[in-house]
Amino acid sequence: MKELKKRLQDISHLSSVLALLCWDQEVYMPKKGADRRAASIAELNGIIHNKFLAIDSDGLLTKLKKELDENKLKGKDVVIVTEVWRNFEREKKLPEEFVREIAETVSRAQGVWAEARNKNDFKLFLPWLTKIVKLKRKEAEYIGYEKSPYDALLDACEPGMDSEQALQILNDLKDFLMPFLKEIKDSQKNIKPKILEGKFPLDRQAVFNEMVVSKMGFDMEAGRIDKTTHPFADGLHPNDVRITTRYRLNDALYSLGSVIHEAGHGIYEQGLPVEDFGTPLSESVSLGIHESQSRMWENIIGKSKPFWKYFYPKLQKEFPEPFKKVALDDFLKVINKVAPSLIRTEADEVTYNLHIILRFEIEKEMIEGSIDLKDLPKIWKSKMKEYLGVDVPSDALGVLQDVHWSIGLIGYFPTYAFGNLYSAQFFSKMKKDIPDTDKKMVKGDFVEIKKWLNKKIHAHGKTYKAGELVKKVTGEDLNSRYFIEYLKEKYKKAR
Ligand code: MG
Repeated sequence: MKELKKRLQDISHLSSVLALLCWDQEVYMPKKGADRRAASIAELNGIIHNKFLAIDSDGLLTKLKKELDENKLKGKDVVIVTEVWRNFEREKKLPEEFVREIAETVSRAQGVWAEARNKNDFKLFLPWLTKIVKLKRKEAEYIGYEKSPYDALLDACEPGMDSEQALQILNDLKDFLMPFLKEIKDSQKNIKPKILEGKFPLDRQAVFNEMVVSKMGFDMEAGRIDKTTHPFADGLHPNDVRITTRYRLNDALYSLGSVIHEAGHGIYEQGLPVEDFGTPLSESVSLGIHESQSRMWENIIGKSKPFWKYFYPKLQKEFPEPFKKVALDDFLKVINKVAPSLIRTEADEVTYNLHIILRFEIEKEMIEGSIDLKDLPKIWKSKMKEYLGVDVPSDALGVLQDVHWSIGLIGYFPTYAFGNLYSAQFFSKMKKDIPDTDKKMVKGDFVEIKKWLNKKIHAHGKTYKAGELVKKVTGEDLNSRYFIEYLKEKYKKAR
């Protein structure tokens, strides 16, 4: 076990370097560096892949797996060997040439996608998407699956989940959301987001953002915030977590919302156990659980009245214009306004999941080969009309809006919706464990919330699968009920 841990730690150094290269690519790298960086990233990916497979070159892992099967391992060692073996089996199935091909393809496709979106030209992206879908289907074949090739890809993002279960959970959610949206839509029409517009110097927004995330418990001495086109969080190590944001001069909440979201991811990364770093005991459970942390802070906490009872006077003081003349209740109505729109990343809590369900349905069919990729713009438009009642004026604002497919992330979208469901289920339990959560928030005391998340979720690393963790923490399997209750309660006056 000692030798296995040493080998894993060696690899984790390379993974931290890879994370840094990817972070730099978005934050500082000059445009012309793109091709070289893509090649470097592909090379490093290949090296990590090989080094990981070499763990078993002398049969060390196989020997430990045998001991695991014979119940000779105990405690943490069981988790480490189980998880490493699971990964190993998966990686072993992918030939090195294939790993390089996919890394280089997606790295170049990203640029084509950006150009296609700028030029509103889906045809430009189509050959690349075709190539990516073909490669991802091949990946599913290499890995193996029982029912749908989509299962193999979904399992990589949300281990333990298959498309049948995903379909059931998301269909339940869709059955609630579509009529609910119709019910509350009209009451939202008179809410005017314009009342929160102003002129907010970016450096002062940055200072305010930092104050908020520090209060939440994001450790600025073990992390930093930078500016990128698309916000993300990137954990190099629990003591070095990078988050990013983007700004709008006239909208202070645009950046703040994304910072709260990414800090939620960041607090998770900082909360992983340092002493086990490099092993699965210090890795996040799944993308869905990761997203539950960001969405809980961003929405359930960060758009709640108790949260803003504390922060709103500070916002008013920092930016008297326009907030001094806007009452807290009106402010809350605006930040919680429900309005069907074109862009997923800017969607409210109600419509957001319909954007996800649309993508899930499409990508599942893409991988199963039951739709012709050249029909995607048409399919996108008709689903947007059906689910959200929105007319899509262009592919740039439609099928080309998200980066995911261009970087080979297929099976990823549903984890965003799972994140929302997990977050509501966890939060409901947290409120039972900490009955005065609201009162604490009003006082600006977020310490216990963070500690609860640290203890119940972060500290376990990958000890439990997502399905096991949610059951352990909340006593129930993942379901849409808590999220639905949460929305009903939040918008009860609107109905
Ligand atoms: Mg996120």
